[in-house]
Amino acid sequence: MPLCKYCSKEIFWMKDGRRNKAHNMDGGDHRCEELKRTLESTKSMAPTSLSAEEIAKYEAAINAKALGQTKKK
Ligand SMILES: [Zn+2]
Repeated sequence: MPLCKYCSKEIFWMKDGRRNKAHNMDGGDHRCEELKRTLESTKSMAPTSLSAEEIAKYEAAINAKALGQTKKK
C-alpha cells in the first residue's frame, strides 16, 4: 500500500468521479494539511496545464493499464 508522502500514513487511492482521492485504510477520506494544500494547488493549475487531448490520452493509458491488470488474474 502506498504511503502518504506528506504525513507517511498508509493510504490508498481510489477514483472519485474524474479525480483520484486519497483514502485512509479504514475507508474514510484521507485529509492532511499538506495533501490538501497540494490538491488545491493542482486543482487551480490543471485546466490550463493539460489539453483535452492530453487528458484523454492519460485516461486511456490508465484504463488500458487497469484492464491489463484485471485480465492477468
Ligand atoms: Zn497525509
